[in-house]
Amino acid sequence: MKLRTAAFFILSLNLISCGPVNSDNISTAKRLHDDAELQFQSAYLALATGKLKNNRPETRYPWPFEVLSIGHTMSSYQNYGGNPYFHHGLDIRGDAGADVLASAGGKVVNIENYVAGLAPYWEVAVLDEQGFLWQYHHVDKDSIPDEIWQAFRNKTSISQGTKIGEIYYWPVVTYGERYHHVHLNILDADSNYLNPFAFLEELPDQKSPQIEEIGLLKNGRLSEGNIVSGDYTIYAKVHDLILHDKFVVPPYEISYSVDGSDPITVWKFDNIPGGGSREQYVSQFFNPSMTCGSYRCRELVIDLGFTTSGTNYFTDAIGPHTIEIHTRDFVGNATSATFHWQVQ
Ligand SMILES: [Zn+2]
Repeated sequence: MKLRTAAFFILSLNLISCGPVNSDNISTAKRLHDDAELQFQSAYLALATGKLKNNRPETRYPWPFEVLSIGHTMSSYQNYGGNPYFHHGLDIRGDAGADVLASAGGKVVNIENYVAGLAPYWEVAVLDEQGFLWQYHHVDKDSIPDEIWQAFRNKTSISQGTKIGEIYYWPVVTYGERYHHVHLNILDADSNYLNPFAFLEELPDQKSPQIEEIGLLKNGRLSEGNIVSGDYTIYAKVHDLILHDKFVVPPYEISYSVDGSDPITVWKFDNIPGGGSREQYVSQFFNPSMTCGSYRCRELVIDLGFTTSGTNYFTDAIGPHTIEIHTRDFVGNATSATFHWQVQ
């Protein structure tokens, strides 16, 4: 295990000798991983034929291993020094070496070292019987059973619950924990990223999302106080926790009403706003000057003026106004908060 970790850092940092895990190699390691993942495209994605009705699959499947916590959701903000992007899949935390069992049966359509030469970045992909593509990332290559390799070579199917490998020993520590996980993407016929929570059994998540702060935004910057004029929007600093006390993630859904209006949904993460694009809209949905998402920082500020067709500025009617903001996680835990401001 130690050898493998050392080998990873030698490769990722081009060091002649390896050193201890420190904050510099944490960010370098992750940036390397994610830039490579952004370039990851394969012809096999065209095999997917699945399309969801009402954003929900017909079945909910078992988790691939015992879930310790959720590290990131599809809506998580990620910025490791390159272009920011939505995390687009689910980081399912488990023990290193735990068996990864296929949540859905189907054809093994890919086994690939998608960052060539780096051991943490092996994928096993399964096309389920509904035509959805399940990409399991960070499977330990040495643990992928012969049966899975054979199914890949022969283009045959495996049944639900078949072992596809084991969780890789993750080389990076974040928030005091070694980040062993499988990153799971689920894609449809148009290569849109879908929310894996919709496909997997409900988690015993009791914590509601929190709204930590609400305020005014002018030209993408915090506007102090609660008096405003001209074009402006409103932000909400939010966080949610799923079976963990530090791995902050965004809520599944955020909506609001102004002065008692019908609720307006800013976004509901059945998919990401860019569909198949991880980067599109991320710096409009999150306020980039107040948001971070990396191994060292998780601060999430949502611009409630976000729409996919441009900024929706708030009311310019002179006088006092009230916004009520609602957030909800995938299992339905909900929180609301209110903010008052004055247009002059
Ligand atoms: Zn991930």
